[in-house]
Amino acid sequence: MNIQNYINGQFVNPIHNEWLNNYNPAKGEVYSQIPNSTIEDVEMAYKSAKSAFKKWSLTSLEERSRILIKISELLEENLQQFAEAESLDNGKPIWLAKAVDIPRAASNFRFFANAITQFASESHESVGHNAINYTLRQPIGVVGCISPWNLPLYLFSWKIAPAIAAGNCVVAKPSEVTPMTAFLLSEICIEAGLPKGVLNIVHGLGTTTGQAIVEHPGIKAISFTGGTVTGAHIAKVAAPMFKKLSLELGGKNPNIIFADCDYDDMLTTTVRSSFANQGQICLCGSRIFVEDSIYEKFKTDFVKKVKTLKVGHPSATETKVGALVSKPHLEKVLSYVKIAKGEGGKVLCGGNQLTIKGSENGYYMEPTIIEVKTDECRVNQEEIFGPVVTIMPFSSEEEVLQMANKVKYGLSATLWTNDLKRTMRMSNQLQVGIVWVNTWMMRDLRTPFGGVKDSGVGREGGFEALRFFTEPKNVCIKY
Ligand code: NAD
Repeated sequence: MNIQNYINGQFVNPIHNEWLNNYNPAKGEVYSQIPNSTIEDVEMAYKSAKSAFKKWSLTSLEERSRILIKISELLEENLQQFAEAESLDNGKPIWLAKAVDIPRAASNFRFFANAITQFASESHESVGHNAINYTLRQPIGVVGCISPWNLPLYLFSWKIAPAIAAGNCVVAKPSEVTPMTAFLLSEICIEAGLPKGVLNIVHGLGTTTGQAIVEHPGIKAISFTGGTVTGAHIAKVAAPMFKKLSLELGGKNPNIIFADCDYDDMLTTTVRSSFANQGQICLCGSRIFVEDSIYEKFKTDFVKKVKTLKVGHPSATETKVGALVSKPHLEKVLSYVKIAKGEGGKVLCGGNQLTIKGSENGYYMEPTIIEVKTDECRVNQEEIFGPVVTIMPFSSEEEVLQMANKVKYGLSATLWTNDLKRTMRMSNQLQVGIVWVNTWMMRDLRTPFGGVKDSGVGREGGFEALRFFTEPKNVCIKY
């Protein structure tokens, strides 16, 4: 099936009729073509968004909300089709897409449909001056949303839903590696009655299509999720144009395990936080630090459990770990196993590419645990973004805190302990945007989401997202 751009409420081919191959990672085969859009396609999408803006920005909150809820309902009705499409495109197990990706995408639309009806602005009475100030929260205009391949529809909708809810019109680009569910979403938007031009989806490469969105002088804000290097580049391009920027970037998150934790709960969750989605979640706890009194026990139990994880074709119900997203990505992840060995790391399990019967050309890899000697080695410092975690012991709270913070990233951290005072002390001092205590990836969509340091700038989620997608304007009235 060929994917098309969705511009001005219609499906269109790229202006230059150039196409890119889209791969099924489970088989290592091309299965569709996507537009290789250029600056001209982005211009067409921009014009469509611009002409829709005035009417959409004046559309009542109830009406915007109604349409977003309809999109959410249609996603739920088409759960199976979307889950299969996401799995085919990305390599993740179908059951995972069905349990997490698609339901959460539907939740994103539902959440912001409701949130916009509760979004209020402030007023300040200037007592003694006979004046009152009130703040308008006005939509920005045309905004750009650019998303990555790891949680394709989930992260795409996480941006689009608040942007539209707040009254903006959008030019969006999903990852060229996983464009399919964004394409299917366009069909749903038509069915839900989203006015033409409110959402425009342009497919293509980051360096051309994505770059054209970031460079476009009329696109006033960019919400981007992806790698740190790309984020830095986007910031450089956007800064001289004073664009509003929200950057959700890479992570190298610590998973800190104290001896007083609920052990079984911790072990089960740690397997998940290490290898869910083939370890390709920005929030995965890829650096595991274990208090030395339980280190040997943990090491034995963790390795034993991870060895039982079934790697296989994403459509098999028993598959726990599917295919990695692409060949270059698989090669990158495998290269880190080599690097680890070179710097004295010990591979406790996994480390190899896997061949799956019937899918011999797919991009499979064994879940891998590397015991590292020092937290300063490359595998412990650089984002690998695959089924690879490091483990090492620690002896004190101060030591582990220092190691946890000694990376350039600062997205999330997980803490396993039942000591309340320690929880408070450490949560205060961890240099991250999100701390999970005795859990992982539990999400409440009202909470601020994002990172510090090289993990990004700005926050998504709840009213933070609606604040990002609006401009505050103060009105001062003297009476
Ligand atoms: P990427 O940076 O390569 O690409 C992300 C998106 O940006 C894609 O749509 C791509 O086409 C586009 N892009 C690339 N170059 C561009 C340019 N010059 N101008 C405009 N757009 C451009 O990232 P990826 O490999 O798709 O995703 C993996 C990365 O995303 C990891 O680093 C991961 O940690 C990060 N991530 C972060 C979060 C978060 O919330 N912080 C969530 C998921 C993934």
